[in-house]
Amino acid sequence: MNYKDYYAVLGVPKNAPEKEIKSAYRRLARKWHPDANLDNSKAAEEKFKDIQEAYEVLGDPEKRRKYDVLGSDWQQAAQQADQQRRYRSQAGDATFDFGGAGAPSGFSDFFDMFFSGIGRRQTSQTAGPFARRGQDLETTIELGLRDAYDGGKKSVSLKLEDACRRCHGTGTDSGRICPVCHGTGHILASKKFDVTIPKGIGDGQRIRLTGQGGAGTNGGPNGDLFLIVNLQEDPTYKRKGEDLYVDLPVSIYDLILGADVKVPTMAGQVSMTIPAGTQNHRTLRLAGKGMPKVKGTGAGDQYVRLIGQLPTNLSEKEKKLFKELASLRNGKK
Ligand SMILES: [Zn+2]
Repeated sequence: MNYKDYYAVLGVPKNAPEKEIKSAYRRLARKWHPDANLDNSKAAEEKFKDIQEAYEVLGDPEKRRKYDVLGSDWQQAAQQADQQRRYRSQAGDATFDFGGAGAPSGFSDFFDMFFSGIGRRQTSQTAGPFARRGQDLETTIELGLRDAYDGGKKSVSLKLEDACRRCHGTGTDSGRICPVCHGTGHILASKKFDVTIPKGIGDGQRIRLTGQGGAGTNGGPNGDLFLIVNLQEDPTYKRKGEDLYVDLPVSIYDLILGADVKVPTMAGQVSMTIPAGTQNHRTLRLAGKGMPKVKGTGAGDQYVRLIGQLPTNLSEKEKKLFKELASLRNGKK
């Protein structure tokens, strides 16, 4: 029996985070998949099996921890494991605490000695000693300003990476490469979710769906699903924090003489008073007409910028009157 350097097989350092191990595995599994190496399939198959074996151990926190502990004392540990196994089979004890009791895995002897039977993905619902919480998953959700303003329930369809159901995430099916996920153990699946959107949620904020993440193994709880809000641009309103900004076209007469005008807000049209003698592009504030506050109560404000519209196609009479106004302004009679 030979020692297997699983880190070398995947080409990752000993302290590589889970993510790096997973992506190294995926990259190598794709590269060495026998279907992708038809002119060299025998060698590719060997290589592919090595990669899967390495990932079976390093991709599983329980097995990885044990593998790291083995280190250079692995031969001594192997002897102990062998003794324990013999002892157990004599005693007829079905439980195991050191692996090695599982059926041959199709992987190396080294694997069978230490890891076969540990943390195998099972469908059992009772939490066993190898129960593992499912992965937290993350995806984005597109929302319009209206969705964010109203909040409440929304049914969304999301594409999520899920453990392959055919092989239960192992990548192998009856000792062969799983035909559904091609050995990666994962598939992309569309899933419907009822999401409760908090009123006033902002761009980049997260919504947690408890227990909707990756499935737990051996009776462990599911992970959570995090939805990261991607707020779409709105054609009418610009949003800054809890405040909203709109441009409102008004006539110059309303600016000069003052007027009550209608303004669109997320809560419907409201009336706003423009004071006489208001400068063009001045911004007025509508208190509490912005976005609801995600935390706490109340809402932001809406800022209305007045955009004066000059009259065009003046009639002869209008021209005459404007000339008269101009000379009055210039102090001429
Ligand atoms: Zn599969």
